[in-house]
Amino acid sequence: MVKAANLGFPRIGAKRELKRALESYWKGDVDEAALDRVAAEQRQKNWAAQRDAGLDVIPSNDFSLYDQVLDTTAMLGAVPDRFAGLSGKAAYFAMARGTQAAAAMEMTKWFDTNYHYIVPEISADMNLSLASTAPLDAYLEAKGQGVDTRPVLLGPVTWLALGKSRSEGLAPLDLLDRVLPVYAELLGKLAKAGAEWVQIDEPILARDLTVAEADALRRAYATLAQAGPKLILATYFGGLGDNLDLATSLPVAGLHVDLVRAPQQLDDVLARAGDKVVSLGLIDGRNIWRADLDKALGLATRAVEALGPDRVQIAPSCSLLHVPVDLDLEPDLDDEFRSWLAFACQKLGEVTALARAAEQGRGASAAAFDASAAAVASRKASRRIHDPKVKAREAATTADHARRQSPFADRRAAQQAALKLPALPTTTIGSFPQTQDVRKARALHRKGALTDDAYQAFLKDRTRDCVARQEKLGLDVLVHGEFERNDMVEYFGEKLDGFAFTRNGWVQSYGSRCVKPPVIFGDVSRPDPMTVDWARFAQSLTDRPMKGMLTGPVTILQWSFVRDDQPRRDTCRQIALAIRDEVDDLETAGIRIIQIDEPALREGLPLRQGDWQSYLDWAVEAFGVASAPVRDETQIHTHMCYAEFNDIMPAIAAMDADVISIETSRSHMDLLDAFRAFDYPNDIGPGVWDIHSPRVPDTDSMTELLRLAAASIPAERLWVNPDCGLKTRGWPEVEASLTHLVRAARTLRAEL
Ligand code: GLN
Ligand code: ZN
Repeated sequence: MVKAANLGFPRIGAKRELKRALESYWKGDVDEAALDRVAAEQRQKNWAAQRDAGLDVIPSNDFSLYDQVLDTTAMLGAVPDRFAGLSGKAAYFAMARGTQAAAAMEMTKWFDTNYHYIVPEISADMNLSLASTAPLDAYLEAKGQGVDTRPVLLGPVTWLALGKSRSEGLAPLDLLDRVLPVYAELLGKLAKAGAEWVQIDEPILARDLTVAEADALRRAYATLAQAGPKLILATYFGGLGDNLDLATSLPVAGLHVDLVRAPQQLDDVLARAGDKVVSLGLIDGRNIWRADLDKALGLATRAVEALGPDRVQIAPSCSLLHVPVDLDLEPDLDDEFRSWLAFACQKLGEVTALARAAEQGRGASAAAFDASAAAVASRKASRRIHDPKVKAREAATTADHARRQSPFADRRAAQQAALKLPALPTTTIGSFPQTQDVRKARALHRKGALTDDAYQAFLKDRTRDCVARQEKLGLDVLVHGEFERNDMVEYFGEKLDGFAFTRNGWVQSYGSRCVKPPVIFGDVSRPDPMTVDWARFAQSLTDRPMKGMLTGPVTILQWSFVRDDQPRRDTCRQIALAIRDEVDDLETAGIRIIQIDEPALREGLPLRQGDWQSYLDWAVEAFGVASAPVRDETQIHTHMCYAEFNDIMPAIAAMDADVISIETSRSHMDLLDAFRAFDYPNDIGPGVWDIHSPRVPDTDSMTELLRLAAASIPAERLWVNPDCGLKTRGWPEVEASLTHLVRAARTLRAEL
């Protein structure tokens, strides 16, 4: 029989129940038992929802109090020494969040998602053992509720490959022989408890593998395949590509493949499947669109014909962790728009409908298929989605639109003449403290308890105050403070056509933190100017140059759920054209410096290096389209944080921003090496203040950082600024730090 399977379900709760419980527990408002109760309820709800949806294969151990990679670290007893005195939840949360005495472990993005995992720290003296039987406990817990689950484990090779070595000369994979016995012991226990199958996730199979990683996979599964339960190896976020032979040759009983990102791999997978069960990832686990079930059935049917129904499973492409929980909790969406969408709960229905149809024909799930076909047809034709004017403009956009009129050297001279800034100009990245009163006013305004006029007056007052403080601090290039913005993507999405917003569409970002990405459903255009009034108002308050602040097209794309009916590149270009209009209008309004933030440019890089160039080409072009319409004397800035640059320098240079500000203070200006090595020609503002920390840096430390910077980049091309925006900081630290920053710039100027 064709089975309907799931790989993982969101754990945060449809109403973010787990978030609330975690945060109350961390605050000390509730005890451990209360947290455990909420977590257990959440697991029970998830299992029940999946059983009720008719799933044949339901996962366990997909739940986590923080992160599944950290769970694996805890299970292996791979606890760094600095947490040695702690145990249980205290140790677990200390690793995730740090304590006064011990810094948290590093956190980084999980493949190309917006989910962050806790990076394992691998050291040579680590004694690994089965320190926690959480996966077994979860299996038994579900069994106690009458649900026989397929436990999920993060695979040993991916766990190691994502880790960072803390010992000289040690590669994380060197620890494989210490990790495998622990996995084998656990798998043995799971088999004994009755688990017939175990899902092991090895998402690194969708990346370029090193020889050592490929070898580790071979060795790992030669061992683990003997350990007890049948293993289904889950790969996702991309095709297997050149790892296909490796993946299909591993001695496991099943293989899950992502056919949303890589439908073209189906025939190769089927041809090499041997006697494996193949799980077809046909329902998009990374996006919120209702599936095209007829199209998916075409692929599923091919698999059933090749392997027979008993060796085929239908599943989401990856864990449903990356989509919101339940579309039924969206009262504001109209019926048509709703008919285009599927959140986790609805995707379960799609998986079962598809599995039944793959076995018995479309008629077995006629209602689901008809609804799917209707959604496909309506999305193809809807005037809410398709705007011929936008499409025509997009088609008429050429590389010329992405180029400034003159080369940088000429623009630089024109800008210097126009702006008359001192050497080492000082500025900030955009936002200033979003204090309690700002948040409160916004909330009241949203609720209708504060009139538009009163809210506008309040924001103007904050902006006036912010500009006055910057003048007093002696900054050279000012910003308005971004008090009117809740979020750098949402603010623009709400003003653009083609975007929609959900009420409860939360997705876990890290720990208890969730994001609610906008939905880009249609052709994007800008009905009205978005920031011009604020920029004009702020500029009217000062003689110094006021930066116009915009979010770039790639970042808007990257932090949204993006329509899947046209290439991302096309959607990005439409956003770029809308931003271009805003840039034009800002210039016309007398704004002489415009900053277009692209913090997400790097994280958009595809998983496979071979795909990087084509992404970078269109991403850079989009930035160009957005920024290029201005005169030479108008200065374009961009800002990027958390990025490494060495392997994307040609693209950064091709963006051709007059000034780029980057996060460098924590890395001690190391990131500048890439710019120096590349002979990056334009101006750079390396951050001299780590705004993620409440610490106020003194003048000397910032002067020191500036000297370091000046050692790799000629001082006449340097700007002086913090690492990022200041919205999470308080005014006292901001004023103190910026006072020091301005002093540091003046000190260095005197040395020129
Ligand atoms: N201009 C934005 C701010 O200052 C930039 C934020 C970011 O880079 N993430 O908040
Ligand atoms: Zn930033």
